[in-house]
Amino acid sequence: MRVMITMACTDCKQRNYTSMKNKKNNPDRMELKKYCKFCNGHTVHRETR
Ligand SMILES: [Zn+2]
Repeated sequence: MRVMITMACTDCKQRNYTSMKNKKNNPDRMELKKYCKFCNGHTVHRETR
């Protein structure tokens, strides 16, 4: 049930994070506010493949 995902900044499109998610708890694409060192601040990061 646990899958590897990549989180990419929606502002600069850089892939800054990888993490695990539970497909059962989060079947849809996840969006999280995280720190982006390229944007120098917190931006929305979206799950990509
Ligand atoms: Zn960014």
